[in-house]
Amino acid sequence: MGADIVIIGGGIVGSAIAYFLARTGRAGRVAVIEPDPTYKFSATPTANGGIRQLFSLPENIAMAQYGLAFFAGFHETMAIGGEPAPIGFRRRGYLFVSDDGNHARMEANHGAQAALGARVDLLDRAALAARFPSLNVADVALAVHSPDDAWINSHAALMGFRDKARNLGVDYRQDRVVGWRAAGGAARDVTLGSGVALAADCFVLAAGAWSGEVGALIGLALPVEPMCRESHYFVTSNEIEPLPFIKTETHLAFGPEGEGYAGGLPEWDQPAGFLRDPHPTRFEDVVWPLLAHRLPALESLKLKRSWVGHYARNTLDLTAIVGRWEGGCENVYMACGYSGHGIMHAPASGLALAELILDGVYRTLDISAFGYARIAANQPYREQGIV
Ligand SMILES: Cc1cc2nc3c(=O)[nH]c(=O)nc-3n(C[C@H](O)[C@H](O)[C@H](O)COP(=O)(O)OP(=O)(O)OC[C@H]3O[C@@H](n4cnc5c(N)ncnc54)[C@H](O)[C@@H]3O)c2cc1C
Repeated sequence: MGADIVIIGGGIVGSAIAYFLARTGRAGRVAVIEPDPTYKFSATPTANGGIRQLFSLPENIAMAQYGLAFFAGFHETMAIGGEPAPIGFRRRGYLFVSDDGNHARMEANHGAQAALGARVDLLDRAALAARFPSLNVADVALAVHSPDDAWINSHAALMGFRDKARNLGVDYRQDRVVGWRAAGGAARDVTLGSGVALAADCFVLAAGAWSGEVGALIGLALPVEPMCRESHYFVTSNEIEPLPFIKTETHLAFGPEGEGYAGGLPEWDQPAGFLRDPHPTRFEDVVWPLLAHRLPALESLKLKRSWVGHYARNTLDLTAIVGRWEGGCENVYMACGYSGHGIMHAPASGLALAELILDGVYRTLDISAFGYARIAANQPYREQGIV
């Protein structure tokens, strides 16, 4: 049986789109194609689940603000039959630290964030030391603290979206798209690994780090590739004040998690490709010394677990690609290339794409600058707030 709308990929982005479409009651038959209901290799469960307003582009800030509000009420919005959908929402803030000479940029971004209503405190070295005494601030020029930012359990949020979407009638099919056919200037059907050809009026590509290879099946060229990202969970018995999620210009990214801390050191120039296992000694050789430098209490810690996940790296400008395939098959939409921000931007992407697909325009958030036109024109719209 065909569908009206086929969503390729049932991670948090595809599932958010499915939910926002289904809740309108106007989307018809929505099918999500997802090969792995355990999401073992998907990005979503491997993420830190951070939601922060510390961006430079107004669209990224606005999408994060929508995500913050949405996730704050998620457990109720996604409740089914009175049963809430908890996602461990914690409003414990973010801290961006300028320790590599780019303080002018961080200060300019702070201005953009404040102008859009974010509560963001610009801290000089002394103010930073007073607020977070455990930090080594000797080599820090300034920092930006956003106390309203938050983090969630991203796997629980995915399950919440998925369960609610199914509850609203969305059909999740355990299968893989292996072919995608166009005729007469429009996409017609996808071929699934099971051999079924599934026809639809409209298709949405939300296959995360696989979006480049799936897009290529129909000739949709996307600068999206998998970028491996190691994470570590560690504990210390040393006393540390409650910390926000910390990101530094020298690429440390870590924050409180359960009884300890989770994070890593994204390598933006990591060659493209999927890796299955973390490097055996990288935490000890590289990550730990940097952690201990920034937070001397972490001189003594116990590594409990390391794992890998994958960013969908947009090599043009590290900014999401959301919208219609302008200049191609115009019944194809995409939401990919989040370059590490797809959890926080999933609710806004779902809302925006549902509006674009069903009404032909963005009504709530105008994210047309994130559309495919800039990709086709090779004109980057670069986020400057990535540290
Ligand atoms: C270590 C790490 C930390 C992160 N921290 C954060 C953070 O703090 N905040 C934040 O916002 N983001 C963070 N991210 C990024 C975030 O995880 C991703 O942007 C987000 O999960 C992307 O969701 P997705 O649904 O697009 O991708 P995925 O979750 O990867 O889902 C894509 C799905 O497509 C499916 N698929 C693949 N091929 C096919 C096919 N041929 N047919 C059908 N389906 C297919 C896959 O099985 C997969 O389930 C982090 C990522 C990592 C790796």
